[in-house]
Amino acid sequence: PIPLSSWEFQHDEIELSDRKLGEGAFGDVRVGRLKTKKVDVAVKMLKNAITESTTRDQVIELLHEARMMRILDHPNVLRTYGIAVLEEPQYLMSELCSCGALREYLKEHHATITMAEKLNFVLGSARGVEYLHSQKMIHRDLAVRNILLTEDKTPKVSDFGLAKISERYEMTEQCKIPVRYLSPETLEHFIFTPKTDVFSFGCVIWEIYENGQQPHDGKNGPTIRALIRKREFLKLSAAAPEELRKFVVDKVFVSDPENRCTMTTIVQAVEKIEKGVK
Ligand code: ATP
Repeated sequence: PIPLSSWEFQHDEIELSDRKLGEGAFGDVRVGRLKTKKVDVAVKMLKNAITESTTRDQVIELLHEARMMRILDHPNVLRTYGIAVLEEPQYLMSELCSCGALREYLKEHHATITMAEKLNFVLGSARGVEYLHSQKMIHRDLAVRNILLTEDKTPKVSDFGLAKISERYEMTEQCKIPVRYLSPETLEHFIFTPKTDVFSFGCVIWEIYENGQQPHDGKNGPTIRALIRKREFLKLSAAAPEELRKFVVDKVFVSDPENRCTMTTIVQAVEKIEKGVK
């Protein structure tokens, strides 16, 4: 047999449990065990294809996500163990985040989450995105639904389906993009840069203090576009620390990307606020 690389596995090396963690666009995510590495993992599995072309697209997307994740190594970024693609359904094995997506966690536990915990979600996620940018990666789909929590509530940036290794990416075709989180320049000029991630990260901060509510909930695409065109951005609720509210208005939800801060500035600002909260 052809030897497999260190991140390719045979299906019989993975023991799937019945515990379902979630459901993505392409299939279920289940708890499993990577026997050869003696570690519990989350297994994203492609559902059985309806047509051959969907299979091919699905596999390409799964491999894209795996390739992006493979080069990343940071405590606030979801780690991947590898893939098993020699049989169907194909698997992508990643670090198990047993507290699930931050969005659901916020919705379920909002009554008991402390201010320190919320700030920790903001800080950990910001460090993860800062690291992606240091690796010249743009995430393009930042939202609390794409941040996972480990058993000890460490946030991990995940879902690299739209991520690009680039400092500037211009969208050529009308592909599906998350309108609720878009910066003005993405909306108007179809441009993605680390600064457009910074704008989306502002929405992540907003979601954390709104307990997992979606930005512009109940509004349709054209209404949201009109608001952004008028430069009417989200406002953090009074539940957020005042310093953070001011910081987001002054540095994050800023129309001109040149004047918008970097993820490093966000990390430093939140670290400073954290010292005050403790
Ligand atoms: P979508 O595009 O609809 O957001 P997707 O196809 O990208 O979904 P994921 O978001 O990766 O799929 O996974 C779907 C759900 O499965 C997540 O919202 C989360 O609840 C769960 N999940 C995914 N990966 C993990 C993991 N490593 N640990 C724990 N739960 C996970």
